[in-house]
Order: sequence, then structure tokens, then C-alpha cells
Amino acid sequence: MKKGKKLYEGKAKIIYATSDKSLVIQHFKDDATAFNNLKKANIEGKGVLNNRISEHILINLGQVGIKNHLVKRINMREQLIKFVEIIPIEFIVRNIATGSLTKRLGIEDGTVLDEPLIEYCLKDDKLGDPLISKEHILAFKWAEKKELEKIDKQLHRINDFMVGMFRGVGIKLVDFKVEFGRFKENGKIEVILADEISPDTCRLWDNVTEKKLDKDRFRKDLGNLIDAYQDVARRLGILHEQSNIRPIKFSKPTAVKIKRNK
Ligand code: UDP
Repeated sequence: MKKGKKLYEGKAKIIYATSDKSLVIQHFKDDATAFNNLKKANIEGKGVLNNRISEHILINLGQVGIKNHLVKRINMREQLIKFVEIIPIEFIVRNIATGSLTKRLGIEDGTVLDEPLIEYCLKDDKLGDPLISKEHILAFKWAEKKELEKIDKQLHRINDFMVGMFRGVGIKLVDFKVEFGRFKENGKIEVILADEISPDTCRLWDNVTEKKLDKDRFRKDLGNLIDAYQDVARRLGILHEQSNIRPIKFSKPTAVKIKRNK
């Protein structure tokens, strides 16, 4: 598949056209951003790890019936994906309260939620990705009611699957963000899972130590981000012991009080 011109460049990825109009190439950069682009850095190797981790998760989700944009990984940094029209909403699923939720509502960090909590944010950097309700989505036609119903069901299935997958390798899936897009095929439009699922878009805590194995290491200046992402990849069986992995330095575990919601 020939790589065509650059169609879009985002904070962490670039999209290139291909000779097939229905397919594009997604390139994972090493750039990291946080706090609506206020904090930036280039972290060597992050793109390669996210490419592999996202491929692994999307293949597994595909096998349990969650249709998604991944066609195949092409090389260390790129994957061939279906060209979708992204729905301008960040779908967030939370199992444990942390991050913006705790700040916004004064919920204690680490509170385990009885049921997964779904939140919707408008994808708009200029507005700082504001939290919106289902009613906003319908009122401003960002998605149709049927699309939203289908997405909500899939969010629960994606969460169930991922909680289990990560639990199996000693990791707590605290929360994650996903995006969906509309894919046109044979005159029909279908909503499918798109973008990426990686430690950039999930919060992952070690089951025992609660060490953060995700982008919070960058957001909170905890260091050793690549070691943490490699740890996730290795536990998922993507990186093998014999590959060239630097030893993981364990920093002092962060003490987080876990409290059940009454
Ligand atoms: N998230 C993301 N992209 C965003 C905002 C959030 O991938 O633009 C992910 C984030 O990594 C976390 C989850 O969504 O896993 C919930 O994030 P939260 O709303 O707490 O965001 P914060 O502002 O604290 O990063």
C-alpha cells in the first residue's frame, strides 16, 4: 500500500492517504502533550510502543466482536486503518475516580465506582474538551440517538473486556478514553471504534503497588514513562523477555487510599 500525502497531523499521530480511498495510514509520533497542549515533550520510543499496544488491544477487541478501524500494523510506527469520519466526542469510561473527575466534583482520588461511569467530552481543543451531556450530543447533532445507544453498549463491552485483560496481567484499568467514527462501505454507514487505545489514553495502575503505568507519569513528572509503557507491553505478551528491554526502575509506590462509594 503506497503512502500518499499527509491528511492530518494531531498531537500524537499523523494520518496519510493511501491509494485506496477507504484506507489511511496512522503514524504514531513520539510527541507527548498534556493539559490541552500546555505541556509538551518528545519521548523517544513512545510511538513504537503505542503502535504495538494499540494493535494488540484492537485485535483482541475485534475478536470479541467490537468492530474497529484497524486493518493491520505495517511497521514499527504505522498501521493501516479504515478511513472514518470521527465523531467529535471523547468517550470516557471510569472504574476508579481520579484525574479531572476528582477535581471537578471533589470526589476522593482512588474511589472505586460501583458501576463503570461514562462521560462525554466535546473534542475541541480551543474549548478545552468540555464535559457535555447526552442531551447536548443530540441537540447539536454530534451523533444520532441510535449511534449513541450502540456506542454506549460497546463502551460497556470494551470496558468489561479490557478490565479482564489487564486484571489478568496484574493491572487495574482505572479509566480510558475512546473515539468512534463513521465508516462508509457499500453505501452503508457503520459506527466503529477508532483512534488508539494505549497507555496514552488509559490510566493503568499496578494491582499491588498502584504504580502508574500510563501517561500520568508525564502529566505528573513521575519519570520513567518508557519503562512503564514497556512494562505494560511485556505483561501483555507483546515484548518478549529476550528483546532489548532496559531494566525497569521501580519508583516509590504512590500511596492512594481506596474508598468504596457508599
Ligand atoms: N484522556 C485522553 N485524552 C484526553 C483526555 C483524557 O486520552 O484528551 C484519557 C485519560 O488518559 C484518562 C481518561 O481519558 O485515561 C480520563 O481522563 P480525565 O478526564 O481524568 O483527564 P485529565 O484531564 O485528568 O487528563
